[in-house]
Amino acid sequence: MMDRLHVRHLTIDELRDTALALGEPEYRYRQLATSLYARLAGDFDGMTDLPRALRATLRERFFVSAARTAAVQSSGVDGTRKYLFELAGGERIESVLMRYERRATICVSTQVGCPLDCVFCETAKGRFRRNLTAGEILDQICTLKADADLASQKVNIVFMGMGEPLLNLDEVVRAIRTLNHPLGLNLGEKRITVSTSSFPDRIRALADSGVACSLALSLNAPTDEKRREIMPKASRFSIAELLDAARYFVRSGRRRVTLEYVLLAGVNTSDADADALARLARSQPFKLNLIPYNPGRSGGFAPVDEGRIQRFVQRLLPSAPAVTVRRSRGADIDAACGQLWTNSLGREDKPAGVSGEDVPLTST
Ligand code: SAH
Repeated sequence: MMDRLHVRHLTIDELRDTALALGEPEYRYRQLATSLYARLAGDFDGMTDLPRALRATLRERFFVSAARTAAVQSSGVDGTRKYLFELAGGERIESVLMRYERRATICVSTQVGCPLDCVFCETAKGRFRRNLTAGEILDQICTLKADADLASQKVNIVFMGMGEPLLNLDEVVRAIRTLNHPLGLNLGEKRITVSTSSFPDRIRALADSGVACSLALSLNAPTDEKRREIMPKASRFSIAELLDAARYFVRSGRRRVTLEYVLLAGVNTSDADADALARLARSQPFKLNLIPYNPGRSGGFAPVDEGRIQRFVQRLLPSAPAVTVRRSRGADIDAACGQLWTNSLGREDKPAGVSGEDVPLTST
């Protein structure tokens, strides 16, 4: 039998071409897209608005989802849910769903493992295996949305799970095209954030690709010297080069860029660090998002105490344009991404990321 294709790998335009090539009328692809991305169907059988013969043909050639839910953890505190998915080849990835009153945030993985070596990150402790396909990225989102019954809630997508999105740029862009499309998830740039640690040329390429999304740049240190110590591979490019690319991203489509800064006690949280960061952020068109380090299981660094966070913020505020602090979610279920993966695999495989809500601050 011919290998079946992942239907969510197709863009909406390709879905249309496929339906037309099968001799179907124009409107068919709309029905199909509606089933896949509005009704979040898990298979073709339930698409009863399609003729039976077409369903059979589609089933022969395509499958709907490549991800099997291997485990789910639910927080009793705030409803945060972490999913461990098993992919077709047996690899495992994680996604996180965070619920708030009127919206939800879905944190997706883009790679199995990560080729970078940021010292505070759980994912970096495992081996890099492979890139995810656009279909596998969309599977995570569709499964979480369907499972959590989010039809009426606004959803934000953050590419902050396992992996470095810009090292899998083509598939990430392909997935975002479906997220943006009115017949896909219909999400605009304010609802989609791609987080990256480096790669100025790829930041520009993401801007030039024309997809609607925001960018988060994981700065994490105020000087190149300090950044090299905690993000060796990502520091192949200087902070100046990265900020230059980030400004290009903003200019290219009046898109938004946030600088992320993981607070590692005793490493990058001194008064001098705050002052250097303030100098760097001053007069730049970027928001600043402080992320208290999440030690997960492996630890390695000390989390900052609340007093230090407040002091850091107060030193930044006079000159930084806007500062938020990410408040961790799902504390009772190992909120730092990666731990389901860790538990399910050998000891040497440890992934990560971060989950939480960005709380805005004022200077008073
Ligand atoms: N590779 C991409 C996306 C994944 S990491 C990137 O580096 O941006 C998403 C965010 O989580 C990054 O800002 C990263 O610096 C941060 N992060 C990673 N491990 C963390 C941890 N243990 N605690 C807090 N934040 C962490």
